[in-house]
Amino acid sequence: MTRAEETKLVKTELRKAGFDVASMDHGKGTAWGWIHVKLARPLEMACEEHGSFQSYNHTDCQACREFTEYLRKLDKEAVALILKVTGRRNNEYDGNISVGFAS
Ligand SMILES: [Zn+2]
Repeated sequence: MTRAEETKLVKTELRKAGFDVASMDHGKGTAWGWIHVKLARPLEMACEEHGSFQSYNHTDCQACREFTEYLRKLDKEAVALILKVTGRRNNEYDGNISVGFAS
């Protein structure tokens, strides 16, 4: 599978599974082989009081904690799906797959 094919496959499968993919590319240089996915930030789940960018600064806020947990869950599920569709080996770096959220 070429990098272009892998990109297309991953994007298609993530979207099919309901993920809102903001961008995706492969690493360059020493990060060659890495897949970088950015998902849209699920703003509808964010804390009304503190917003969506400061979850880690408000550990005493239930809504912020839940939002952070939700992002972690999405991240894990996306990595699991990408591992499955690409057949990448799950090494200590999640198959060299990094999932983050668009700002
Ligand atoms: Zn909050």
